Amino acid sequence: MYFSVSDMTGSRKTNPHVAIIGGGISGLATAYYLDKFSRRYDCDVSYTLLESSDRFGGKILTESSDGFIFEGGPDSFVTHKQWALNLCSEIGLKDRLVSVDEEHRKFHIVNHDEMVEIPSGLRLGIPTEVIPFLQSRLLTLPAKVRFLLDLIIPRKRNDNDESVAALIRRRFGNDALDNFYAPLFAGIYAANPERLSVHACYLRLSEMEKEYGSLIRGARAHRRRAGAEDSVRHRSVFMSLEGGMTEMITFLTDNLAGELRTNTLVNGVVPTDSGFTVSVDSNGVAEEVTAGAVVLATPSFVTAEIVESLSRPLADALRTIRHVSSGTVCVGFERSDLKCDTGLTGTGFIVPPREPRLISGCTFVSNKFGNRAPKSKFLMRAFVGGDGRQNQYEVDDADLLDQVLRDLGDLTGIDAAPVITRIFRWPQGNPQYDVGHLGRISAISEILKEFPGIHVTGCAISGVGIPDCIRNGVKTAEQICKRIKIDRQ
Ligand SMILES: Cc1cc2nc3c(=O)[nH]c(=O)nc-3n(C[C@H](O)[C@H](O)[C@H](O)COP(=O)(O)OP(=O)(O)OC[C@H]3O[C@@H](n4cnc5c(N)ncnc54)[C@H](O)[C@@H]3O)c2cc1C
Repeated sequence: MYFSVSDMTGSRKTNPHVAIIGGGISGLATAYYLDKFSRRYDCDVSYTLLESSDRFGGKILTESSDGFIFEGGPDSFVTHKQWALNLCSEIGLKDRLVSVDEEHRKFHIVNHDEMVEIPSGLRLGIPTEVIPFLQSRLLTLPAKVRFLLDLIIPRKRNDNDESVAALIRRRFGNDALDNFYAPLFAGIYAANPERLSVHACYLRLSEMEKEYGSLIRGARAHRRRAGAEDSVRHRSVFMSLEGGMTEMITFLTDNLAGELRTNTLVNGVVPTDSGFTVSVDSNGVAEEVTAGAVVLATPSFVTAEIVESLSRPLADALRTIRHVSSGTVCVGFERSDLKCDTGLTGTGFIVPPREPRLISGCTFVSNKFGNRAPKSKFLMRAFVGGDGRQNQYEVDDADLLDQVLRDLGDLTGIDAAPVITRIFRWPQGNPQYDVGHLGRISAISEILKEFPGIHVTGCAISGVGIPDCIRNGVKTAEQICKRIKIDRQ
């Protein structure tokens, strides 16, 4: 029977048990929805969540000190993908949700060392309003003319995947790519737009081209449709939690019904007659956990190591997903030391790769979320690393801080010394959805068909943002519970 399991003493259990490996948001969301669907499908599922580090949350990491709230990884989530918002509401965090401060919604892009405001009226990054676009200093007049050729250039003839750079160059020209889209689209994925897959990351753009023959026309149609919904929802595009993103993790772990273990490193999974044996190193002691199903919510290169003895082809397929490293550098200043207030409007700026800078962008945290620093202080968060910027990531902390402060000084005019700093590093922390990513994921799914009971999830698979990680948790938990229900009938 698919989900029969034996416990550590070898006796048969009637209830199905699941081992969830990895206590980031993907693993925790799977656990939460296992609790929920277990009730819905009346299937009494139990689980053990195994996390190698001494805390839950993975890349979701908030630290507080001296009235500052620092986010090491994500600082918010998008709301148009509803899964994170739904989860927050379900676990009682609705009143803790905070929106980006409306007053500071402007965002800038660095153009030859100057801050240029991103024009209003963008939909999916595409201008939908003529006047703000024409008035913007982002592109020269010839580049704007080239941009507008999108309205007449014939659509792509085939459905093959291509890079984001190829799509933008074809529709809008090189200048638009270098000055705007390279940092805008690639920033979210810490990626190189020449390698980033349109199908995996921006499928909507490719569909718009197909349907409307032009991204501008497609974006305008999208705005008309979404406008009606937005006005009903009255919702900020990004949201966070009052005390930082870790609130989501704390609320989840406080309310999960299963067994949750930290300091438990998983080494491998092997099949048994009745399910799987998961071998772990728990504070230096080797142990085995038996389960009827295993959810791997670890980074894909770790998942590859864990499944190596189960299936070499599966491990090889998982290793085809590239990862790069990135970091965040938080710096807080006395407001009274800042003589450059005009350079600090909006929620921050992004830096195109062609600019000779270490940082790829910076969030003005105090403008974005008013409660993240004492009123007399100003908190900023700079981003380093990402694809093509790995050398910059590798400098030591003192040099990194020096160079970040130099970039911030040159770009915003800040010449004061920070009163507080924090550096967070994410080695191999950013999965890269390179061209052909969906093909790689199909290959993994195909191999997984040979191993019912093994589920691979996590941000390397389908969607790097928190809402997508949660969506995958919903899907995985539902699959497991439905399967148990079927097996019992
Ligand atoms: C700097 C940065 C900023 C970001 N900003 C945003 C943002 O603003 N909004 C957004 O939506 N997304 C953002 N993201 C992306 C988002 O944070 C991640 O995609 C998401 O948190 C990944 O969750 P996960 O559970 O899939 O993986 P992880 O968070 O990586 O969790 C994996 C877990 O597995 C554990 N583990 C590893 N090996 C083992 C093992 N052998 N045994 C047991 N456990 C193991 C790890 O310790 C970790 O806890 C950002 C990412 C980074 C790096």
